[in-house]
Amino acid sequence: MKKSLSLLLALLLCLSLLAGCAKDGAPVQTPAPSEEPTATPEPTPEPTPKPHVEPTGEREGMWDLIPFDEMPYERPDPEDLRVAVEAVGEALDAGADYETLEPLLDACEDAYDVFYTMYSIAFIRSCQDMTDEYYSDEYAWLDEKSSEIDQLMEKLYYRCGMSDMALELEEKYFWPGFAEEYADDSNAFYSDEMVALLQEESNLIAEYRAIVASPTVVLPDGTEVDYFTALEERTGMAYLELITCFYEQYNPQLAEIYIKLVKNRQQQAVVGGYDSYEALAFDHVFERDYTPEQAEGYLNDIKTIIVPLYIEVDDSGRYWYLDEGSVDAARLEEILRYGVTSMGQEVLDTYELMVKSRLCDLEHRPLKAEIFFKPSLSAYEVPFLFMDAGGNLGDITTFSHEFGHYLDGFLNFEEDETIDLAEVYSQAMELLMLTRLDEMLSDQELESLYQMKMTDILNMYVQQGAFAEFEHLIYAADPEQLTPEYVNQVFLQMCQDYGFSEDGFENLYSKMWIDITHFFEQPFYVITYPVSNDVAMQMFQLERENPGAGQDKFLEMLPRVSPDLLESTLGAGLESPFAPGRLEKVSDTMREILLGDTLSNAA
Ligand SMILES: [Zn+2]
Repeated sequence: MKKSLSLLLALLLCLSLLAGCAKDGAPVQTPAPSEEPTATPEPTPEPTPKPHVEPTGEREGMWDLIPFDEMPYERPDPEDLRVAVEAVGEALDAGADYETLEPLLDACEDAYDVFYTMYSIAFIRSCQDMTDEYYSDEYAWLDEKSSEIDQLMEKLYYRCGMSDMALELEEKYFWPGFAEEYADDSNAFYSDEMVALLQEESNLIAEYRAIVASPTVVLPDGTEVDYFTALEERTGMAYLELITCFYEQYNPQLAEIYIKLVKNRQQQAVVGGYDSYEALAFDHVFERDYTPEQAEGYLNDIKTIIVPLYIEVDDSGRYWYLDEGSVDAARLEEILRYGVTSMGQEVLDTYELMVKSRLCDLEHRPLKAEIFFKPSLSAYEVPFLFMDAGGNLGDITTFSHEFGHYLDGFLNFEEDETIDLAEVYSQAMELLMLTRLDEMLSDQELESLYQMKMTDILNMYVQQGAFAEFEHLIYAADPEQLTPEYVNQVFLQMCQDYGFSEDGFENLYSKMWIDITHFFEQPFYVITYPVSNDVAMQMFQLERENPGAGQDKFLEMLPRVSPDLLESTLGAGLESPFAPGRLEKVSDTMREILLGDTLSNAA
């Protein structure tokens, strides 16, 4: 049974789920954070990887992809990229023509792709076995080196953008606007001062991960227990007692790391020439085509339009408990195959190739991390799908989400896109899959699945809205003002403003934010969820009005016209999430399904 909406324990469940989702939806190249593995076995280093890099736009020999478990791993050497970038510089100085430059530029891109592919491989393997210290150490090493790699690529771009060849390279090799973007290296982001701050940030994140990997908690009777083991064993008041102890004991030290991270990032904004870290994150980290001001307006609308619905649904008491049923691995496979088959040949082919090439890992195993995400293996131009099946109906939604990412990544050759656009495909796939499964699920199961998805969305709007405003307020604060008490107070205020706190539990609510991985590892990420969900909801709404229309829109939008959210959305003939009336329409659909008489009479 899943307890949904409001009630304290339910919120905790949701928080941990969303913390998991944080780990998914990784920005383009970067696989998301993990729990810190422990223990030993060290595999023999494998031969130097020679990824089979295929020409973008046509995937030749696609039926012979290398299975993931046969992909070699070797620690990449950042020197490879440094040497390749210098070779381009020397060729430009010598007045080389385009034909000479092209293979040198390819060598830079290959070195970059190999670095980030190794990064993903190390991360996936450390999540497949959390006791694998070799891969967790590799991942930590790669994470620290990543800002150097990004700095080298930026150097390459400025070297090209400031050369006589800039326009020709823009036309033949880079992207529209390249020459102007990289015309002046006094605008460079990765100064040595910035790289030093980014490395310090990586180290603080590693410190955070080490603390949350396997915390122990001292109970009121003085005994010390492993927190995650104890969480699984306890229910009711014993559970509440345990998490209370955890927050009491860990809030102060995690708050201290968090405040250091905030101050580091505020400093990054100063060094980077931005008015705030929020502005830096929107522009540089997430490359959004909407502004912090638009996001702020959106959060205010969530408070006036969605929060009242949330309170009404919660008060109805209809969704405090949801039956998640049970779905074993064989049945899950049958359901998923049926679902993807109903979405057309290209979707089915992608699914079958993923399974055949073992580019996914779905099953539950004891040592596997309980998270889900879709990292990019860019050197092979393929993604990977990682989840840890729970054996219930929720697996259908989890898989659909990650498969939406996978399909997008695979069909678009893992080319760059913003996370805001990426999250459209994943959330749309979840919603469209709901409308496909009436043959495969009992009426009761289908109804449960609709309830689970709609309450998830409702929770998502209020919680992620609260989280987004929390970050906005914390990063805007005077650094001197930042104390653990201040951070806790702001978080509690957000829980109250967004309607999901409970009287009498203020102390607990104020400290819960330490469970949200995003706050530590990917600040200003969370606004993506509600904004992108709007576009996914537009497809779902189309499908409900006219069966097949939502799916057609999804397939039409898949070969993306741009890496950006608004441009792609408008390009597909859909409305901007910020258009007047959009949140009201989302609210109406949720109201109809959650408070109407019938749930699953969708399409
Ligand atoms: Zn996602």
